Amino acid sequence: MNSDAPQRTSDDGGVVVVGGGPAGLMAAEAARATGADVHLYDWLGSVGRKFLIAGKGGLNLTHSEEAAGFTARYGTRAHEVGRCLAQFDAGAVREWARALGVETFIGSSGRVFPLDLKAAPLLRGWVRRLRASGVVFHMHRRWIGWDDSGALRFAHADGEDVVRADAVVLALGGGSWPVLGSDAAWVPVLRERGVALAPLAPANCGFDVAWSTHFAGRYAGHPVKPAIVEWRDDGGDAERRQGEFVVTASGIEGSLIYALSARLRDAITARGSTVIHVDLVPGRTLQRLAQDLSRPRGSRSLSEHWRRHAGIDGVQAGFVHEVLPREQWHDAACVAAALKALPLTLLRPRPLEEAISSAGGVRFDALDAGLMLKSIPGVFCAGEMLDWEAPTGGYLLTACFASGRMAGAAAARWAASRAAARTDG
Ligand SMILES: Cc1cc2nc3c(=O)[nH]c(=O)nc-3n(C[C@H](O)[C@H](O)[C@H](O)COP(=O)(O)OP(=O)(O)OC[C@H]3O[C@@H](n4cnc5c(N)ncnc54)[C@H](O)[C@@H]3O)c2cc1C
Repeated sequence: MNSDAPQRTSDDGGVVVVGGGPAGLMAAEAARATGADVHLYDWLGSVGRKFLIAGKGGLNLTHSEEAAGFTARYGTRAHEVGRCLAQFDAGAVREWARALGVETFIGSSGRVFPLDLKAAPLLRGWVRRLRASGVVFHMHRRWIGWDDSGALRFAHADGEDVVRADAVVLALGGGSWPVLGSDAAWVPVLRERGVALAPLAPANCGFDVAWSTHFAGRYAGHPVKPAIVEWRDDGGDAERRQGEFVVTASGIEGSLIYALSARLRDAITARGSTVIHVDLVPGRTLQRLAQDLSRPRGSRSLSEHWRRHAGIDGVQAGFVHEVLPREQWHDAACVAAALKALPLTLLRPRPLEEAISSAGGVRFDALDAGLMLKSIPGVFCAGEMLDWEAPTGGYLLTACFASGRMAGAAAARWAASRAAARTDG
């Protein structure tokens, strides 16, 4: 992956793609498919680092739900992302993987994975095919902006390269997991050029809860499943979801929490904190649970009584001890109520660096229909650096692929028209 290409000169044209994540690689592929001269730059020594880490969780490539439901996952950006998906949707993602020799399957939740649940074979095959098609990779090159003549500046260990391109695709990622390359250093560079940006914010993230030292020390790392989380908005409308989450030293995280995280984050931004209610015993009604807990205890300890008659054990019991004053531990109605609707105050989202993905980024009203920056003609943007967010489930990668494809194809058209204008001139 670490091909160090010959030094480009300042009269080089073609398409330059900056960022070798899924969006950038897809942009390079789409541009190269038109015959454009394509050079891809990344500041790390290899491409697709975050894609590879996604493989540790099985590489959820896309989702099998029908198109309207799929597009709705992008919330207020459904229209804009939907335009990209119209050209490269979930079915196209699966076809694309198959063409690289990777068959996919639909899991029980509707999520789509490679048969072997791995990212490395797919990435290796993809990079090999891109190279064979003529895409030139330039690694260890950090894009730091433009010089006065409008050429791209790339910093590296021996100094700086200045590169002139007919069209540029920026696919620099968001701000999560910066160690994998997406450190959001592009934010001030684009802001200085007058590009409208929505502030980056954590998406699909955990939240802080003020656990007691005892609870955090004892239960950090414990999964809570099954559970139902309910959250009410200001109007009193409830969102309820069943799934699982994990207690952490500072709060909670995991798929059930990620699914609600955009609304929880926005509520905290608006009001300083927000409360969720967790049903820790979805299999029993409140009445049944209260009855079970009221049965005679005899000489058994309280925890043995809870375990034997209501199956309450471990972290569930820990939660009761955490939220109820000691004098209520013997009150079956209070304990049942806590187990069926455990109130947890979420204080703040975990930092962006720890989130699975980012919200915010380059605003769609700063872009034209081909994802070109209106204020910097010839510069296109794609992937997670755009101002959309989506839950986990394969929606993140699919939007990165689709927007990369759209930006790459549009950049190639732009480059071709520039080259034609030079010839005519
Ligand atoms: C742990 C984890 C698991 C995930 N699992 C899934 C999953 O299963 N399914 C799913 O859909 N999504 C998943 N995601 C999200 C998904 O990986 C990202 O949404 C996706 O990788 C974003 O693609 P991108 O190309 O926009 O950016 P990135 O993948 O972040 O790539 C950006 C690239 O740009 C380069 N770059 C940045 N700045 C510069 C610069 N100034 N100069 C040169 N190069 C630069 C970086 O080095 C990097 O290679 C996961 C994320 C994480 C953190």
